[in-house]
Amino acid sequence: MPETTTDIPTKINWEEIRAQFPVLQQEVNGKKLVYLDNGASSQMPKSVSDRIDAYHKNEHANVHRGIHSLSQKATDAFEATRSKVRDFINAVSLEEIIYTTGTTDSINLVAQSYGRKNFKAGDEILVSEMEHHANIVPWQMIAEETGAKLKVIPMNDEGELIMDKFYELFSDKTKMVAVVHVSNALGTINPVEEIIAAAHKRNVPVLIDGAQAVPHSKVDVQALDADFYAFSAHKMCGPTGFGILYGKKDLLNAMPPYRGGGDMIDKVTFEKTTWNDLPHKFEAGTPPISAGVGLGAGIDFLNQIGMEAIAEREHELLEYATEKLNQIEGLKIVGTADKKASVISFLLDGIHPTDAGTILDQQGIAVRTGHHCAQPIMQHYEIPGTLRASISFYNNEEDIDRLVEGIELVKEFFG
Ligand code: PMP
Repeated sequence: MPETTTDIPTKINWEEIRAQFPVLQQEVNGKKLVYLDNGASSQMPKSVSDRIDAYHKNEHANVHRGIHSLSQKATDAFEATRSKVRDFINAVSLEEIIYTTGTTDSINLVAQSYGRKNFKAGDEILVSEMEHHANIVPWQMIAEETGAKLKVIPMNDEGELIMDKFYELFSDKTKMVAVVHVSNALGTINPVEEIIAAAHKRNVPVLIDGAQAVPHSKVDVQALDADFYAFSAHKMCGPTGFGILYGKKDLLNAMPPYRGGGDMIDKVTFEKTTWNDLPHKFEAGTPPISAGVGLGAGIDFLNQIGMEAIAEREHELLEYATEKLNQIEGLKIVGTADKKASVISFLLDGIHPTDAGTILDQQGIAVRTGHHCAQPIMQHYEIPGTLRASISFYNNEEDIDRLVEGIELVKEFFG
């Protein structure tokens, strides 16, 4: 399996790293692109798109089922990603790394498989007020079917979970805790270690939505002791259509398959079908092979920089941006937790976020506007949505300065 090669010097030169992202070199609406929508999807360095291209040119065939050499080459390339993911998040074994199509798919898998088997009428599932819809709706769906109920851990106005309430909400009926590690809409880093330890004292499993954590910090699932941990490739320099569910082996082994079809079986007869071993039991049908290979290349890229360095650089940019934005009159940051990742949601006095976002786009500045798939957060603040700048390590101070200038122009435009 060829390793992807990138051109990252030992002492980190962030501008050289930025130069490895072809998409960032373009102009949008006649202005140099400022891409601050990394929370939605990160960009892809050339090493990742080259690796995907090379896979298609040299290694493509269907995986797992072929005796022929090309199928084995494809399988090797695809399975190499599983070891990279295991090492990246420090899982114990490859069996604990389930390939999915993304965070949403991973959470649906647990809700449908674990939930259908284990929830009954009156049981409670604890989620928080700051969840992405992907960590609300799958639980609501299984709750509807089984008669279980959702209980919501509230947050304060800074956008931090109220931990006293979390402890109060626990009862004998609690059967699952599902909490976001880093909020995509507020940037809050939640105390997931404490949440997991508290749940385990009561023998309750915990699913962590790590979509916004894995791309920005070192995540160690063993140190966290998470039971399930979900994330997406497209937020970590990889392609869309691919993601991971980490699950503890004993839990996964006890869970029924989520989808049926090829690859997830051991033996099929019309009378009875038996299941394949982990991780394949949960991977029915032809997977997105090239996307899986791409995630492996994305992990190589992140590893070459180092997750500690990435977290440090993003924190530096977060502090720079927070200070600059706080100086703008009429701008209010939504989400001011003590512990934050590089996401800044904000409002401009008297200007609708969508209008502001449109004017920023005309200046080549990409930010996201709206509810960020977290409507309960907007309900908390009684606002329709926010503007959100989500910063990655390949952004720079100039991007932030351009955002600040852009916001000033928005204010002028709306008088
Ligand atoms: N959870 C969080 C915190 C997210 O930020 C996202 C993506 N915005 C998701 C879940 C869903 O991820 P995906 O669309 O890749 O399944």
